Amino acid sequence: MSATGAARGIAILGSTGSIGTTALRVLARQRARFRVAALTAFSNAALLEEQAAAFTPGFVGLVNGDGCRSGWGSGTDCLIAASIRDDVDIVINAVVGAAGLDATLAALARGKRVALANKETLVMGGALVTEAARRGGGEIVPVDSEHSAILQCIAGRPVTEVRRIVLTASGGPFRDWSRDRMEQATVADALRHPTWQMGKKISVDSASLANKALEVIEAHHLFGVPYERIDVVVHPQSVVHSFVEFVDGSTVAQLGVPSMELPVLYALTHPERVHDTGVPPFDPTELSPMTFEAVRWDDFPALKLGVEAGRRGGAQPAVFNAANEAAVALFLDGRIAFGGIARAIASALAALDGMPGETLDALRAADRAARNHVREMAGC
Ligand code: NAD
Ligand code: MG
Repeated sequence: MSATGAARGIAILGSTGSIGTTALRVLARQRARFRVAALTAFSNAALLEEQAAAFTPGFVGLVNGDGCRSGWGSGTDCLIAASIRDDVDIVINAVVGAAGLDATLAALARGKRVALANKETLVMGGALVTEAARRGGGEIVPVDSEHSAILQCIAGRPVTEVRRIVLTASGGPFRDWSRDRMEQATVADALRHPTWQMGKKISVDSASLANKALEVIEAHHLFGVPYERIDVVVHPQSVVHSFVEFVDGSTVAQLGVPSMELPVLYALTHPERVHDTGVPPFDPTELSPMTFEAVRWDDFPALKLGVEAGRRGGAQPAVFNAANEAAVALFLDGRIAFGGIARAIASALAALDGMPGETLDALRAADRAARNHVREMAGC
């Protein structure tokens, strides 16, 4: 609860998705602290209508206006309209892909907290997004489970005390597949994630490990830690959500059953903790054994390409993100093989090497060029 005791206003962008519906489950238990002020979705009007009836927000927006009910906002601008309202204190950005960027920037410029699930925003806009937060007085608090873990482990200590961040990765459905077998994996194979139920795009990213590359770049921008001090380890059970090693040699981890409810709630209450019963209690014997393996970097080229793009900077992270989004859409449409995703990314990064990335316009141009490159490669 805020200092005045009033419930804080929440906007959810992407309320009909996996993170959006998880957030509403959390908020349904926390009505004394938080009030749903705005909801937006892309095209699922029926579910959005149900959510609006249950939470009575002041603003409802549907990007694809076909199913719009009277009184709803529509078009891509409705994400911004929801984010900058005076009755909104926290924007949960649970949109998938680069489409979430403008709303994140607008909310940060207005001094709001952005509870960020939409990691693509930070990968594409990195420095510009963190600068928008600094200038506008807003703050970015991660929803991604690994970054929530890191935030909780760092617990306010200065970055000079952090020696290394180790992101955990479940390894996805192809953790023990050969590269040849992965080449021909079907959509159903790629969507069969062993530990998390998520939207399709992030599920494919978790199979290719492009998701972990996005998360390395995300960690770099959120915590200001250089790339050479961010590592990845495979942990199939998804119980340890990440590690932070400090300069004195001590390593701190955050643990919990794999559920996004905890990181969503923490992104709303950070640095405080509030009573909640959504996540089953932690039982180490039940969650045993917890195992760790080295990443097979050469068998998951999308991971390697993404981390390299992050290190190179400029427009390369935006190109990586856009090429991956375009390639994943083609894979989900059955137009390219699973192995074609990493090939498309590699080709776009090579073709668009050296594009500038200092301004928003430059990043948008790089994003467009990467999507066009990938579609042309696939003959679309
Ligand atoms: P999802 O596909 O289940 O949901 C996406 C939501 O965004 C939907 O409500 C959809 O209506 C909306 N949307 C899609 N395209 C849009 C567009 N162009 N404009 C406006 N709205 C649009 O995806 P998800 O799994 O909930 O993931 C959302 C974000 O959270 C992604 O960036 C993902 O990487 C991140 N994330 C998800 C999880 C998870 O467990 N699902 C975990 C960590 C991070
Ligand atoms: Mg994650």
